[in-house]
Amino acid sequence: MTHLEKAVELQKNGYHCSQAIIGAFANELGYNLKDCFKISTCFGGGMREGGICGCITASFMVLGMAFGFYDPQDKELELYGNKKAEEFLSLFKEQMAGDITCKAILGQDISKPEGLAVIRKEGLMLKLCPRAMRVCIAIVEEMIADYHTRKNDFSKVDTVETDDLTSIIKHADKRRRFTGSVAKLLDSMDKKVAFIQFDIKRFKIINDLYGEKFGDEVLFFISEKLKTICSENQFFMNVRADVFIIVTEYETDDELDDIITRLEEDLEEFKEVKLQLSFGVYTVEDREMEIRQMEDRAAMARKAAKKEVVTNRLFYQEQFKELLYTRKFIEENMNSAINEKQFKMYLQPKYSISKNKIVGAEALVRWIHPQRGMVYPNEFIPIFEENGFIRMVDYYIWEEACHFIKKCTGLGIKDCPVSVNVSRQHLKDMEFMRVLVAYIRNNAIDKSLLELEITETANDEKISKVAEQLKEDGFTLLMDDFGSGYSSLNVLLETPFDVLKLDKKFMDNMMASDKGKLILEYVVAMAKKLELELLAEGVETKEQVELLSKIGCDRVQGYYYAKPMPQEEFFEMLCREREIEKA
Ligand code: C2E
Ligand code: CA
Ligand code: CA
Repeated sequence: MTHLEKAVELQKNGYHCSQAIIGAFANELGYNLKDCFKISTCFGGGMREGGICGCITASFMVLGMAFGFYDPQDKELELYGNKKAEEFLSLFKEQMAGDITCKAILGQDISKPEGLAVIRKEGLMLKLCPRAMRVCIAIVEEMIADYHTRKNDFSKVDTVETDDLTSIIKHADKRRRFTGSVAKLLDSMDKKVAFIQFDIKRFKIINDLYGEKFGDEVLFFISEKLKTICSENQFFMNVRADVFIIVTEYETDDELDDIITRLEEDLEEFKEVKLQLSFGVYTVEDREMEIRQMEDRAAMARKAAKKEVVTNRLFYQEQFKELLYTRKFIEENMNSAINEKQFKMYLQPKYSISKNKIVGAEALVRWIHPQRGMVYPNEFIPIFEENGFIRMVDYYIWEEACHFIKKCTGLGIKDCPVSVNVSRQHLKDMEFMRVLVAYIRNNAIDKSLLELEITETANDEKISKVAEQLKEDGFTLLMDDFGSGYSSLNVLLETPFDVLKLDKKFMDNMMASDKGKLILEYVVAMAKKLELELLAEGVETKEQVELLSKIGCDRVQGYYYAKPMPQEEFFEMLCREREIEKA
């Protein structure tokens, strides 16, 4: 019996359309028919109200059961589900000539007794609903088949070229298997269990130096190696990019130590390239805790280990929990923070040393929380970068910056550009460009007065392209944090920046020795040759100012001149300097 035949039969037996559709798929999805009927009972409510066709809601339910993710943090599969839901609706509309409500499909208002009477009398449901059911079932069947094909494809060959959707399913499936195995291990209670998370130090540099293909090979090498190293009760997963997690059982701390040492030795080199790993370890105490939470703890320890100089492995400590709480606080409060305008734009002046004059400003966000007070970007920006919320914050700051520029221009100050930070999150698609252009147009400001700071990182073709596009559109681009770590002179070749912002740490390092000072001098000279402007960040002392001025770097930003300040304060300062009477 086909799904459609089954559904029509159920409908004839008096079940309404959503029950019929779910019922048609119940068995093969491993659900009890009666439970499915119960679950879908209330979908009929939509129908009675003359709202959205019950077949649609039921189809969503079937798709949900088929893709089946139960982990609320499984954002990737959620994304897949969302995409499929959208796709479903547009196909349904297409095939039903735009009709998605019961009223439109049955031609009668079900919420009114008169309408219902007509429907009953003429048996419209049995006549007309099967059309919607047929359309729904066909789409759902195709989507489920597609899902399984993708799943099977990757399980056959691990290295096949995959598109985005396939890799989402692939990853979700791996995670599901991993979580399942770990749950069993935790249940067994035989031995102690530890979560070991590791990543490769400066993996971006490896990508940069040897190319992304080589980077992929490194990751493949690690995965393959882990397959051979891991014993029966050790499970691993490639969490993302170069981050891996291994869950292992162990008896003594020494044994755990040995396991890590062995991992390190087995993975220390690939094709003569040394791989330095950072390990974060969480030893399980409470086996009832969510597996994700255990992973998070190992992740926290790994992040802390990355910052260590003496050791490359750290065990999770309770004080990391503080960080977790902060994270939780931030994530729970970010939406209301935007709505309640708790984010404020601060401005830090940029100075010309020779003119001793303000030549611009950088917009920096501050979060003034009503109870907690000032929260600094270093605490929340990394989290927002991860969860994508940074886009909202950036948009807000960009808009504020545009208002500010408009205000200055109105007073005749046309030589104080404001630079805003553009998170790398934006560079993934072009939406941000439309937003920028709209803000600029709405405020009728000159594009040259809104400058964009983009962080220097390892070569990335896509980002270079976006940068080029921005450049073509007439934006001024500042390379932020130049020299801060991922530094690669290649970036200078590939991307069309106008200004290099010398990173504070880079400067501090260089100024500590004569050799460093020489390098700094040559960087300045090189920038000049390349017709790049320079701006030194984080300038704190007179000595720094004197040296920079001597070697030809005239623009500076730092506490020596001024700290970031509320925009109103900067506005006062600027007007005072320019001797402008405010209205
Ligand atoms: P950044 O873009 O490199 O910003 C410069 C940071 O250095 C600012 O920290 C600034 O307050 C600080 N700074 C300036 N002069 C000195 C100095 O002389 N000495 C020292 N020690 N520090 C100085 P802040 O405001 O805490 O921002 C930290 C980072 O957060 C920024 O680094 C930027 O990457 C990010 N950020 C800040 N606001 C935004 C924003 O609106 N959007 C995005 N995407 N990122 C932002
Ligand atoms: Ca910046
Ligand atoms: Ca910077």
